[in-house]
Amino acid sequence: MNTIIEKVQLSSSKNVTFTLKENAVNIFEEPQNSLWTFDLAGRLVGMFIDYKNYRRTLNNKYYLKSRFTIENEQFRDIKQIPIDKIKPLIEQSHILIRNNQNRLSNVFHDPLENILKMDSTTLQNSAKEFNNIYLPISILPPDQYMSLVIQFTEGCNYNKCTFCNFYRDRPFKIKSADELEIHLSKVKSFFGEGINLRKSIFLADANALAVPQNRLINGLKLIHNHFPQFKNYYSFIDVFTGLKKSANDFKQLSKLGIKRVYLGVESGNSDLMLFLNKHQLNKDIIELTHKLKNGGIDIGIIFLIGAGGSKYAEQHLLDSVKLLEQLPLGKEDIIYLSELYDTNSNYEKSMAEQNIPLPTRQEIRKWSNEFKSKLKKQYFKNIQVSVYDINQFFY
Ligand code: SF4
Repeated sequence: MNTIIEKVQLSSSKNVTFTLKENAVNIFEEPQNSLWTFDLAGRLVGMFIDYKNYRRTLNNKYYLKSRFTIENEQFRDIKQIPIDKIKPLIEQSHILIRNNQNRLSNVFHDPLENILKMDSTTLQNSAKEFNNIYLPISILPPDQYMSLVIQFTEGCNYNKCTFCNFYRDRPFKIKSADELEIHLSKVKSFFGEGINLRKSIFLADANALAVPQNRLINGLKLIHNHFPQFKNYYSFIDVFTGLKKSANDFKQLSKLGIKRVYLGVESGNSDLMLFLNKHQLNKDIIELTHKLKNGGIDIGIIFLIGAGGSKYAEQHLLDSVKLLEQLPLGKEDIIYLSELYDTNSNYEKSMAEQNIPLPTRQEIRKWSNEFKSKLKKQYFKNIQVSVYDINQFFY
């Protein structure tokens, strides 16, 4: 479908533009420069009002995104906004629709009616439905925030890293074929036309590739039957279970759509890895990445910047770069630098036990910049290196 743009003049100096795309509806009001974005099921996705950037999650939480600068470094911030403060902002868009929909072409009728149906009660009910289908979606890689999440597995089969609280609330579990079938049907019915906004499939939670090969293949086929429109699949992977698969296994998965997997390497420094209670070995990371690339699967490598604070910072960088030099990465792969500034009590306790002060965000950013410039200058000119701020994750 081509994008359809229609502008309505409200007065000599005011107008509102309605844009219908194949995956979303935008309403843009001038001269205020207010913008609302909805999916085709009518759910608000985000809005930009009074120069403030708001995002809505599928469980009906609202966040204000902002940036601040300290010593020429820019940081991002988010703050949850209570629903009663958000309601009037959504209502503004509904008023614009009600007052102007008769002046628009017929093609706008259904998408705008969908938006009007999504009043605050309906949005709240939609959140309840979402929470019945999914366990909390703790994290995705930044390039997968707009994916369609399928919780083929729940939790993390390792679940022991001190810095990570993502899946402490649930045991690791692989959905049976019947459970997966039910999950897929519910996901399909929940998203409705809003599914057009989703760009790929992400197999959650921490490590769906831990599923034994035959069950994984059958699961991928089932997902494909329900969602044939998605060609590319993504997932986290871990060294512990990933190594159980061969390059040929990965080749099979690649043929079934697995495009890229994301590996939490964290650091190339083995002392730091012990400190973080993540007992993976560099030789295993090297072996796994070679198997993946031989199987035709791209890789996202995640380093944990700031982990172990000043005590480990220098060796963390040096050993991580040394490890990277041995990985078969190319321009289709990504290196993520995840800045560890929002920690948990377990991690803080282990830092205190070693008398390591918790680093400030500026210190972590300094290490992150050093990491980035070393990678860019010396070894990985062609590979995308990006900061991964887990606090900016919304779903
Ligand atoms: S960092 Fe990854 S492997 Fe470690 S507990 Fe968290 S999800 Fe599991």
